[in-house]
Amino acid sequence: MTIPENVRLNPAATALSAEMQAWRHHLHAHPETAFEEHETSAFVAEKLRAFGYEVATGLGRTGVVGTLKGRHGGQRAIALRADMDALHIHEANDFAHRSVNPGRMHACGHDGHTAMLLGAAKLLADDPDFHGTLRVIFQPAEENEGGAREMIEDGLFDRFPVDAVYGMHNWPGLPLGRIALRPGPMMGSYDIFEIVVHGKGSHAAMPHMGNDAITAAGHLLTTLQTIPGRSLHPLDSAVVSATQIFGGDTWNVIPPSVTIRGTVRAFKDSVQDTVEARMRVLAEHTAASFGCTAEVRYERRYPATVNSADETALCAEVAARLVGADNVDHDPMPSMGAEDFAFMLKQRPGCYVWLGNGPAEGGCLLHNPGYDFNDANLAIGASYWVSLTKTLLSAEAEVAA
Ligand SMILES: [Zn+2]
Ligand SMILES: [Zn+2]
Repeated sequence: MTIPENVRLNPAATALSAEMQAWRHHLHAHPETAFEEHETSAFVAEKLRAFGYEVATGLGRTGVVGTLKGRHGGQRAIALRADMDALHIHEANDFAHRSVNPGRMHACGHDGHTAMLLGAAKLLADDPDFHGTLRVIFQPAEENEGGAREMIEDGLFDRFPVDAVYGMHNWPGLPLGRIALRPGPMMGSYDIFEIVVHGKGSHAAMPHMGNDAITAAGHLLTTLQTIPGRSLHPLDSAVVSATQIFGGDTWNVIPPSVTIRGTVRAFKDSVQDTVEARMRVLAEHTAASFGCTAEVRYERRYPATVNSADETALCAEVAARLVGADNVDHDPMPSMGAEDFAFMLKQRPGCYVWLGNGPAEGGCLLHNPGYDFNDANLAIGASYWVSLTKTLLSAEAEVAA
């Protein structure tokens, strides 16, 4: 666990490293998946209470919110958010803190995110030298199931008002001791689609007696790729990926229907609108040209994760003080992966950053059975959170508000 020389850690975070690592290893060994984070949630709530936070549990089923008032009073409020859920993966690692829950694994580093935010929560409670209110949000079900949305629907920001909200994710492939962030989109939206092409089945030797759904579906697959290429502004981005296709049972029968499923990623609501509309038109007309019909189900799961400009500029300053200006990447290529924190950024201004997790070699990519969070990041992440809080809730910020 070597911290790069460019990093200026908060000494209190350094002193807390071993304890944060013990929490992280405990969480890593006991992973829980979406909305089942009962033990994780109880672990977090118990720690926050011990640190002196006012704690609310059960938001979005297993979410936890801790509230801490600064020593100097004040009106402003900010939220820092971590995610707590694991993935349905069978862990391939054999170190001592490997998962004891078969088929479940912290392969996205949410164990590290939770431990870092708990660490920062403790340091800020030990020295609440800030103006206003700090809220720490521990959300369930970041992966696939929209835990952030459920917390919001449960009244997250009505019950616990904040002016802005901040998130972070470890990023394998970005060197340890580097932080990447940008105003505007950081992560893509996540939509899913299912198209059922209905034709008329027939004997495979007599295709003229039916309407071939397989041929129609084949044409549709290639036609869908014209959406990003022909229907969007050349500088807008989208990915349309068909990921499943099924139809037919045997060699000599043309089946009556074929199902295509897949996902769409984009950075703008307007692009999602265009993709969905074009998909419906192409499905209907391509199917019709073969005497078939098409049924389209298009579901929007997560919006794009979009950082607001002012909050991103403040985070960049805090990051530069921590890792040095040369180690802040201000214009990383956004990822088409999706992030549930997007729902919180739809409600409040804020900023989501990537924290370098080090080389992605040896299976250390996100969602890989060989992944492990880099423990050297615990003190870096906790230092960032503490410094960000004290900057955002400083006396000057209170006066300006
Ligand atoms: Zn993930
Ligand atoms: Zn993740």
